[in-house]
Amino acid sequence: MRVLGIETSCDETGVAIYETGRGLLGHRLHSQIDLHAAYGGVVPELASRDHIRRLPLLLRETLEVTGLTMGDIDAVAYTAGPGLAGALLVGASVAESLGVALDVPVLPVHHLEGHLLSPLLSATPPSFPFVALLVSGGHTQLMRVAGVGDYTLLGETVDDAAGEAFDKTAKLIGLGYPGGPALAKLAQQGKPGRFKLPRPMLHSKDFDFSFSGLKTAVLTAASAPDFVPEDRADLAAEFQAAVVEVLVAKSMAALKHTGLKQLVVAGGVGANLALRAQLDAAAAKRKARVFYPELELCTDNGAMIAFAGALRFAAGETVEPAAGRFAVRPRWSLQDIRPPVVVGPA
Ligand code: ATP
Ligand code: MG
Ligand code: FE
Repeated sequence: MRVLGIETSCDETGVAIYETGRGLLGHRLHSQIDLHAAYGGVVPELASRDHIRRLPLLLRETLEVTGLTMGDIDAVAYTAGPGLAGALLVGASVAESLGVALDVPVLPVHHLEGHLLSPLLSATPPSFPFVALLVSGGHTQLMRVAGVGDYTLLGETVDDAAGEAFDKTAKLIGLGYPGGPALAKLAQQGKPGRFKLPRPMLHSKDFDFSFSGLKTAVLTAASAPDFVPEDRADLAAEFQAAVVEVLVAKSMAALKHTGLKQLVVAGGVGANLALRAQLDAAAAKRKARVFYPELELCTDNGAMIAFAGALRFAAGETVEPAAGRFAVRPRWSLQDIRPPVVVGPA
């Protein structure tokens, strides 16, 4: 089955085609970073308008790179939430319209399920069950994943997400928007330890996180009268070390708690090289393995949506006519979704 995936939840427009049994046939992505940079954050109305402008072009390009035509598409999957309502509606409208025009089923997909399953797209995929660390711009969660749609929350952030902490801290020290990757780059030139930042909730004996205090501690350090611009790299390195230490410790505790030996890391912060290196080292000590999506699939993309949709279709999930049409869900907990539902005669 060839599934067209459409992602428009925030500031990336993504289109992809995944074929069951063959893999990802091709995908195209457009990031709106330049569009929003001047405002220091995503402007929802501008995001929606740009998705409308980009989607037809990306669709055409995806067909071109895969050598397919619209008639080759067997099903459509789109991000129905969580995300910006207007942005989600663009993807939903295009997906549902294509469904009617091509007379193929259309499946609403949970954005975080896309992130969560994206490491299964890599050359050496993990197998169920595994522990998942979801570290993105909007979420920081540890989960036990038993199968598609079978997610048990172990713990999550009580305030800022890890990616959000990277972005806000970057802004504080003047690295612009979105500063997460820039902060990580600067950290490589600095030394952790010269500044001392807290490791929030490191010993809390649960799987929860807190990152907003860290941001305040950075602000305090950077506001000291003797702080000079040359200190920024060391402060960035200490910030990154603090976030990474907590993420690694809690992920290892989750492996121990569940007795599992596979850890899957998904979401934009999963692109962080320091996090990857330290997770790999800590996991090796307990004879466990860490799985990541391909670097380019860590942040938002259409491939993960096409893939999550294809897995659900392959499991027999059926979409009732008109069910969920345009029912985007800007707020939608991953705990509220279910394994693929098979309706009709067994
Ligand atoms: P969500 O998926 O929770 O709705 P999102 O889609 O905005 O949020 P992603 O696209 O998965 O999040 O990831 C974006 C986040 O990843 C940003 O906060 C960005 O700063 C962060 N990020 C990307 N690369 C790195 C890196 N190398 N180091 C640290 N953070 C990074
Ligand atoms: Mg984004
Ligand atoms: Fe995302």
